[in-house]
Amino acid sequence: MRKDVAEKLIRQIMPMIETANPSDWICPFISARPVSVSTGKPYIGGVNSLLLSLLQVQKDYSSPVWGTANAWRKKGEEKKLPPVLIKKGEKASYVMWFKYIRITEQKEKDGEVITVTFPVFTGGAYPVFNQCQTTAADIDPAVFVKSIGQGQEATPDEKVEEVLKAMPGPPERKPSTQGAYYNVAEDTVYIPTLWKTPEEWAMTVLHEYAHATGHEKRLGRKFGRNGNYDYAMEEVVAEMAAAMVAQHLQIPFDAKQAMTYGACWAKKMAELKGALDDIRARGDFERDLLNAAMKGWKAARYILNISYDGDETE
Ligand SMILES: [Zn+2]
Repeated sequence: MRKDVAEKLIRQIMPMIETANPSDWICPFISARPVSVSTGKPYIGGVNSLLLSLLQVQKDYSSPVWGTANAWRKKGEEKKLPPVLIKKGEKASYVMWFKYIRITEQKEKDGEVITVTFPVFTGGAYPVFNQCQTTAADIDPAVFVKSIGQGQEATPDEKVEEVLKAMPGPPERKPSTQGAYYNVAEDTVYIPTLWKTPEEWAMTVLHEYAHATGHEKRLGRKFGRNGNYDYAMEEVVAEMAAAMVAQHLQIPFDAKQAMTYGACWAKKMAELKGALDDIRARGDFERDLLNAAMKGWKAARYILNISYDGDETE
């Protein structure tokens, strides 16, 4: 990952973490998901979808369409518009890309040379601009969005159950009388039966299933013990994953609560690492936070059963 770009990405998020105070949060949920100008489709459930919807609200942009300067120029040509350029003085926002690349190596095994291929997960960040930052600001965003078929909307619980049916090798689920939690040893998710809203139920179920993706037979993350660094990081990973899946399913979840929860655990990570007052520790913390985002992304993909193969540039 290019270090300067990664730093810019982190600097976008840091203020939100440092002020992890529920009353400062604006509800970032918007009905239209962020759309990539190159494909005309919503960004696939992931960090970018979440990050861009937050930025759209924070910066008060009226369009959900985003793209690189190059993508805007190309789309303008394709739509036969006057040249679409980035307005002078506009600053880029940074989104992440992740990709599996295949590395091939020669190895010696039992006196024979064999070729092994293994996937390596890599990622970085790249600059994008909202439509409102371009000379195409006044054009109806619908011009850049591929229409999605209309149909009866499923309820949040129906959407979640549907997705969990497709999750490979899911954990067991049992009713609970002591709140929601995931038991690693039993590989079982415990969920209370009474809920105020289906949205609240959906977010909780997704959060606990996100923890379950960390089981050693799935993505194999470190769970840690209550109060330690790994534990705090796992909470950030699970909440990000839940938010990403909810965003992907267009479930109107309480994003304020989700972000506050995630940010509070991220702040806990920063405290445990001493990153709030030590600039060197801050670098380590920032790297771990990017890592947590990447792990959250992987967990979301695992739940959604979306493969990592191919180019996953979002
Ligand atoms: Zn949790």
